[in-house]
Amino acid sequence: MPPACYSVLALAGWPRCAVCAALAVCLGCAPTFPATRVRVTNVELHCDLPPAEANDLAADAGAFLGGVSQYLQVAPPSPRVYVFRNGRSLRLYLRRACPVFSERTGACFKTDDGGLVVAVSAGPGGRPDPHDLRHELTHAVLAARFAPPMPWLDEGLAQLFENGCPPGVDDNRLARLRRMGTGLDGRLVELVSKERHAQLDGTDYLVAWGVTWFLLNDRAFGRKKLLRCLEPGLLSEKAAHRFRRNLGETPQALAQRFRQFVRTASP
Ligand SMILES: [Zn+2]
Repeated sequence: MPPACYSVLALAGWPRCAVCAALAVCLGCAPTFPATRVRVTNVELHCDLPPAEANDLAADAGAFLGGVSQYLQVAPPSPRVYVFRNGRSLRLYLRRACPVFSERTGACFKTDDGGLVVAVSAGPGGRPDPHDLRHELTHAVLAARFAPPMPWLDEGLAQLFENGCPPGVDDNRLARLRRMGTGLDGRLVELVSKERHAQLDGTDYLVAWGVTWFLLNDRAFGRKKLLRCLEPGLLSEKAAHRFRRNLGETPQALAQRFRQFVRTASP
């Protein structure tokens, strides 16, 4: 069951809307929950599509989860996936269920009982943007099977799989990285030093995609070494130290090769 929007305040003795705090029943603050619920392997999907279409969407999501899990060599998770009918309903839901993500266009988080939730909103035709859905489903694989990855790797992998599994080059992102020129070095060093729960900006996301793609394709690293970066680190270990321990070189030393890769990689 999705969490209710109403909580009872002991002092007032009246139910208040958890979102707007209006006494009794407010109008318009409760998210409209999806009406259709289907269950397939790996996924329980809630959306507003007719059952047959919902089933197809759930099957696609389940197959994608299976593919990413296989790529990352772990067992697939079984998230509940909510596709809210619009961005407003998604935000209202997130304010209640996971306030730190309330302004996001999609979210993946664990509930108090350890369940895994993916929440996105529908676009035209009642379907979510496939990139958004794949992004959040990748977070679900990472959240279920690994200790919290470092932000650069968490967002790097989530973006890498946005276009499908196995991941491929993204010409648009590569061109944008190329335009950063020598500025790339400093941004990479800054990004990999960011601790868990740090806020990433748009450039951080772009560099996270780039460095993850670079490491996957670099002869000295590759998938096997990248997966090693997902293993739990020491809680007290600084992000930059963890990067160096996992990858065997400093972010500064790696930055030069990364820039070279970006300059010469084809599209
Ligand atoms: Zn993300």
